[in-house]
Amino acid sequence: MPLVARWGRLCAMPASDIASHDSGRLRDLLKVQPGSTVDLTSYDTRATPGFPGKGKKDAEQLREAMAPELSDLQERLYAGGRYPQDPKRVLVVLQGMDTSGKGGTVTHVFGMMNAAGLQLTSFKAPTKEEREHGYLWRITNALPRPGMIGIFDRSQYEDVLVVRVENLVEPAVWGARYDEINAWEADVAASGTTIIKCFLHISPEEQKERLAARLADPKKYWKYNPGDVDVRAKWAQYQAAYEAALSRCSTELAPWFVIPADRKWYRNWAVATLLHEHLLAIDPQWPAASFDVATEKARVAAS
Ligand code: AMP
Ligand code: MG
Repeated sequence: MPLVARWGRLCAMPASDIASHDSGRLRDLLKVQPGSTVDLTSYDTRATPGFPGKGKKDAEQLREAMAPELSDLQERLYAGGRYPQDPKRVLVVLQGMDTSGKGGTVTHVFGMMNAAGLQLTSFKAPTKEEREHGYLWRITNALPRPGMIGIFDRSQYEDVLVVRVENLVEPAVWGARYDEINAWEADVAASGTTIIKCFLHISPEEQKERLAARLADPKKYWKYNPGDVDVRAKWAQYQAAYEAALSRCSTELAPWFVIPADRKWYRNWAVATLLHEHLLAIDPQWPAASFDVATEKARVAAS
């Protein structure tokens, strides 16, 4: 069943059913089924699938209500990554067209969490040193350590997106990368990493408004890049490149989630909820003491 139809059905559910939906639901709702072919035009970028409230106010309240539990889960994950080391960690990949809200998601979702447990990397055009290595070299170097939540603002997928559209390498080279990325992600998952790949899906109309808003406010000039308009002119080519990446690289170990992102409040709620659902599934436990507690209590008392 196409996703739009599934969303429609869920949104038509009575409020009581939505409130009681099991915690795995948003994951299931937004996930790109491995092996399926994605048609991005079939998605409504203003939709709010799985959202149990009415609008922005509810979204912010729901996100705030989630914060204490997110913090607790994050602290458990972090503690587990210390001694004795549990390899579990999380990697959130954020991709989307310019202005889709990658930076806003970092601020609003990860801003609620403890910075000590976060590892944020924003990938730009590769530097001279990075270009001397394979494209996955800098990505591998940025992977989260045990106990950490890694956030990629852009990622290995740029190497099948901008690189493909701008012909930065031969088609045979980028064409081989989908399988390479799947194999690399399977290794990353096997090392204890829960991978959550989020495509923030905006419409071209929404992007135009956001670009105009950046030019209308001197406090937003820093976010504006004249090159964004050139990228925008290739909208269809980028959407096709995204469709290929979403279709070929959504796997059980590293699924893609398509997040309708024209409404910022929904985007923030959805990414926070996905993170929450995944952390609950990881169920990180406080590590046992690596020392004898009674002995140490006696030593502290006697000191
Ligand atoms: P921003 O995220 O707005 O700071 O822009 C970063 C820029 O770096 C975007 O134009 C990306 O397309 C570009 N970029 C990121 N990764 C790559 C890559 N592997 N190859 C070429 N350009 C890249
Ligand atoms: Mg930019």
